[in-house]
Amino acid sequence: MPIGSLPVPPPFSPGICGRVLLQQQGTHRCLHGHPWIYRSEVAQVEGDPQDGDCVEARGARGDRIGCGIWSGCSQIAVRLYSRREEVLDSTFLSRQLDQALAYRNALGLLKPHDADAVRLVWSESDGLPGLVADRYQDWMVVQFLTSGMERRSREIVSLLREKTGLSQVVLRNDAPVRLQEKLPLEKKVLFGSYHDPLWIRQNGVLLPARLLEGQKTGLYLDQGANYREVRSLASGRRVLDLFSYQGAFSLFCSAAGASSCTAVDQSATALQSGRAAAEKAGAAINWVEENVFDWLRRAQQEKQQYDLIILDPPSFTKTKAQRAAALRGYHELHLRALRLLASGGLLASFCCSHHFGLGEWKELIGRASWEANVTLRLRKTLGQSLDHPILPTIPETEYLKGCLVERE
Ligand code: SAH
Repeated sequence: MPIGSLPVPPPFSPGICGRVLLQQQGTHRCLHGHPWIYRSEVAQVEGDPQDGDCVEARGARGDRIGCGIWSGCSQIAVRLYSRREEVLDSTFLSRQLDQALAYRNALGLLKPHDADAVRLVWSESDGLPGLVADRYQDWMVVQFLTSGMERRSREIVSLLREKTGLSQVVLRNDAPVRLQEKLPLEKKVLFGSYHDPLWIRQNGVLLPARLLEGQKTGLYLDQGANYREVRSLASGRRVLDLFSYQGAFSLFCSAAGASSCTAVDQSATALQSGRAAAEKAGAAINWVEENVFDWLRRAQQEKQQYDLIILDPPSFTKTKAQRAAALRGYHELHLRALRLLASGGLLASFCCSHHFGLGEWKELIGRASWEANVTLRLRKTLGQSLDHPILPTIPETEYLKGCLVERE
């Protein structure tokens, strides 16, 4: 066959394996800084990109959007990582990691002791879609949630160890989102010799971080700032910690002089860790292993009363479609919790689903208070810790919000 009749390969820059053309829908969002291209928004793919490959993205009119990582199976076909034409190579990784560490350092989050438990890298918020790295004392926990990061995982771990000086590493690749990219679930110690738990001192309290078996990567690092806020209010109050996990809120409140602490969670292992922590701290906490909804019904019948209630439920919805059902669940929780709140009492209510904004959360609390026939004042709005940066161009990065309200 004469050479002239061979199909001409699409002209991509070195390291770029394809070009993705968007439909009109999606183009606007991505041109304004949102980094996800959904499969349903892809008009055409040039080249033959494989999972984890770098691709160039263009809008419906051919406008350059930037470069992203291709996934052949996830709903999110491309995760953009740069507005420029550049490859996600070791130079890029090194630069992004430096920026992530510099940001936290500038905020004082990496100072010894404060930095005993801190998120070092958080995915899209740090320009590295699908990479999570946390520091727990002299250990690091890493998660690779996308095929792009999975493929570069060895290089990333080696860069992180070099830049942070943390040589001991636990791999927590057991987050179910990995299944969306057909990645296997696993957790293991990559470097060092490790046994759960690692005791982490935070604001004078020892918390059991279970880096291998705990929820998330061991602790709820996103709640760090709220632990400080809530503990400052606890002195002399009867505290109720709903969805307590290992009872971090209770442990802080007890240390701050709460008159009593009751922690409710359905996870036996979480409560077992909480008990061990309370024993170390000499804290008297009433641990209840039960479904919060059932417990609330009983507590209401028994006319129990509390002066500080923490409501920190898991996300009741993973999709927009389940919003209505989730709202009903959240409403019931607030209604029942408010009936246990003594006059002058405080409620710290958190929502960790990015499907609800702060405005909606306030409205929901307002509706429940009206139905419960109590008047609430909003003392303060609460949010995720600064080591989980919020990018205004990516609403999904602002997921944890809360309201601190006071009953009249
Ligand atoms: N407040 C905790 C984090 C809570 S995470 C902290 O700061 O560490 C949500 C917790 O809710 C998990 O521990 C989970 O076990 C628990 N949970 C989920 N559904 C529940 C239910 N219906 N009843 C009781 N606990 C529940």
